[in-house]
Amino acid sequence: MTPGLNQQRSQQSQHIDARRRHHILAFVSYITSAVMFVYGYKNLHAEQWLLPLILFITGSCFLLNVLIYQATQKLQRACTIEALLVGAFVLSLVYQGGHQNTALYWVFPFPAILFGLLGVRHALISNAALVMILAVMLFIPELILAEYKEAEASRFLASLLIVIIVCWINDHYRERSHQAMELLQQSKELQANTDALTGLANRRFLDSSLLPALAQQSNEFFPLAVIMCDIDHFKQLNDQYGHDVGDEVLKGVANLFQQNLRQQDIACRIGGEEFLLILPHTSATDARNVAEKIRQQFAQQRWVTSDKDYKVTASFGVAECNQAEQFNEAVKLADQQLYQAKHLGRNQVCG
Ligand code: GH3
Ligand code: MG
Ligand code: MG
Repeated sequence: MTPGLNQQRSQQSQHIDARRRHHILAFVSYITSAVMFVYGYKNLHAEQWLLPLILFITGSCFLLNVLIYQATQKLQRACTIEALLVGAFVLSLVYQGGHQNTALYWVFPFPAILFGLLGVRHALISNAALVMILAVMLFIPELILAEYKEAEASRFLASLLIVIIVCWINDHYRERSHQAMELLQQSKELQANTDALTGLANRRFLDSSLLPALAQQSNEFFPLAVIMCDIDHFKQLNDQYGHDVGDEVLKGVANLFQQNLRQQDIACRIGGEEFLLILPHTSATDARNVAEKIRQQFAQQRWVTSDKDYKVTASFGVAECNQAEQFNEAVKLADQQLYQAKHLGRNQVCG
């Protein structure tokens, strides 16, 4: 099956995930920077000049980052820069101590923000690095300006670890459950779009998957050719040898298509003994050659089932199509060519 069709659903879920990260980025940038400006302003007259400086610089960088993101739409880059800013802010705040040594309270939201911005794996690594640096800073007080109580440092680190582990478990299973649901949905979709007897795509597939893909990813398909194929005198074969033998022949026909088509081609069973072959990036001339090759194999093959063998032939109609809007028209044209092939005596290719 053509890659364009497989990509559709995963593109949808990637789009939803990008929206989630976009909202986290916007929230952190606008709201957090507003809070930083307010606290920066409130501390402006305090003796400590470093605190307002940290708050103003980080708030401005958050704003700048989100504005660049709005202009460039490079989400991945913006999230990485935001995460680095978060890390730098947390470390500098803990170093300085904040207003009356209250810096540690402000650290707790940031592990969750890192999970939102970076995804589970990278967030876990960044949080682990952050905790290790914080531990060094808190247990070697000479390294920092702030003066935390010893008991405060160990309790802070323990509760921060709990927050990180809970965020990790939560995000890990959220990601896993999304993946499982997506796989389930894909397998249901595949089942609904597959003909149970032959394993080929069915008519539903044309409407629910192929037509939207033709419109959305036209450069993966056009110009394409369609081949309509109908087994000759199939009713006779059923009447003479039974329905089960007919079924075996239908399965054999599906194999014949698979052997003669490329990976990107699509074979559909659109009726009892009627098939539609869709050949992306193929001219009508090439499609006629493919149809002729399949027709010859049909006629030469001896279909052996239940110790008997039969000769089966098929008729073909070919048409070309250059854009999604023409697809139904092209199928209709191929059908008319098929009718012509039947009319001219069957076992031939028209179009
Ligand atoms: P023509 O050459 O004009 O196409 O004649 P035909 O007999 O192939 O066409 P017709 O439309 O008269 O008959 C199609 C037959 O296909 C009738 C039906 O019994 C048979 N058929 C449809 N679905 C199945 C199926 O799933 N299994 C089997 N064994 N037969 C089927
Ligand atoms: Mg037929
Ligand atoms: Mg028919």
